[in-house]
Amino acid sequence: MFPFFSYNFNFLFMVLLLWRPCFSARIVPESVTVITTSDSETHNATWHDFSKFLHAERGSHVSGMSELKKYFHRFGYLSDTTPNFTDTFDSKFEHAVRLYQKRLGLPVTGKLDSDTISLIVAPRCGLGDGVHGIHATRHFAYFDGKPRWMRSSPMTLTYAFSPYNMIERLSVAEIRTVFERAFARWASVIPVSFQETEEYDKADIKIGFYLGDHGDGEPFDGVLGVLAHAFSPQNGRFHLDAAETWTVDFDREESRVAVDLESVATHEIGHVLGLGHSSVKEAVMYPSLSPRKKKVDLKIDDVEGVQALYGSNPNFTLSSLLQYENASNFAIGFNTRFSIWTLFIAFALFILFLRV
Ligand SMILES: [Zn+2]
Ligand SMILES: [Zn+2]
Repeated sequence: MFPFFSYNFNFLFMVLLLWRPCFSARIVPESVTVITTSDSETHNATWHDFSKFLHAERGSHVSGMSELKKYFHRFGYLSDTTPNFTDTFDSKFEHAVRLYQKRLGLPVTGKLDSDTISLIVAPRCGLGDGVHGIHATRHFAYFDGKPRWMRSSPMTLTYAFSPYNMIERLSVAEIRTVFERAFARWASVIPVSFQETEEYDKADIKIGFYLGDHGDGEPFDGVLGVLAHAFSPQNGRFHLDAAETWTVDFDREESRVAVDLESVATHEIGHVLGLGHSSVKEAVMYPSLSPRKKKVDLKIDDVEGVQALYGSNPNFTLSSLLQYENASNFAIGFNTRFSIWTLFIAFALFILFLRV
C-alpha cells in the first residue's frame, strides 16, 4: 500500500508541475486541433476551410458555402436534382444538416455547431452514408438492393494485393499481417472464410493503394480527407489512398496525421461484404476515423448487420461479445472516474501547498 501511495504521490506532484501548460493547450476540441494545424502538408486544404462555417445557420450567407453543399451532396445528404449550389444557408440545406446530424449520431440542431463542423473536417471513408438506403430501423445499413456475395457454402472468398499498387512506407509482410487480422475478425462472426491468393486477377477481393484519380470516378484527395473506399458485393475492389501516412504501430510512427491501417482495413472489409455506414459512433462501420486512432473491434451493431446478410458463425456467441463490450465500457468508466479523482486530489494538494 505504501509504495503505491508513494508512486501516486510522485505522479500527483508531476501533475502539479504540468498543471499550467495543460490549460493553455485545451482551448479547442482535440479532433479540431488535429485537423486545423497550420502545417500545409499535413491536412486536406479543402475540408479544412469548412471550419469557417462554424455557427452558420438558416439565413446565413457565407462565401464558399456552395463547396460545403457539394460535400453534403457527395456523401448523400443533398439530392442530385439540385441544379447549382449557392452560398446561402437555405431550408433545403438545413434539412441536409439535420439529416447528417441524425445519421451520424450528433445532437440534431440544424446548425453548423462545433460538433458538426469537427466531424465534417475529420478524415473519413469515401463512400456515402446511405441516407436513402433500404434500412431505416437500426443503426447499421446496407447498399441499395442489399447485395451480398452468393457462393455455395462453406463460403470462401479470396483476396490479393495489387502487385503494382503498394506503398513503401510499410513492408508487404506488415500489410499482409494487418489484413489477415482484419479479415479474421469478420470471419469469426459469419460463416465465411477469407484466403489470400497470389493470383491477383482471379481474386474476389482486390486490394491496392492509389494516388488521386485512379480510373474509377472516385479520385483520392491527398493527406487526410478521404482515406479509402471499397465497392459493394460482388465487385471486390478495395482502394486505399496512397498519400496517407499509413501505420501499423503508433509507437513507431510519430506523425500527427498517421492513420491506422488495420482500422481502415476492418471498416472497408465491411463494405466489401455489403454493409453501409452505421450511425453508432463506436461501430467499426461509422464513416469517420480521427488520425492516430485505432478502432478495430467489431461492435454489436457491426455484428448484427453482417449476420443479417450471411448468418452467424456457429462458433460465435453474442453473449461473449456483450460481456466483452460491457467489460470495455466498465474499464473506460473506471479510468474516467480515476482521472477525475486524481485531478481533484491534485487540486486539493495544490491549495494546501499554497496555504503552507
Ligand atoms: Zn465506409
Ligand atoms: Zn478507387
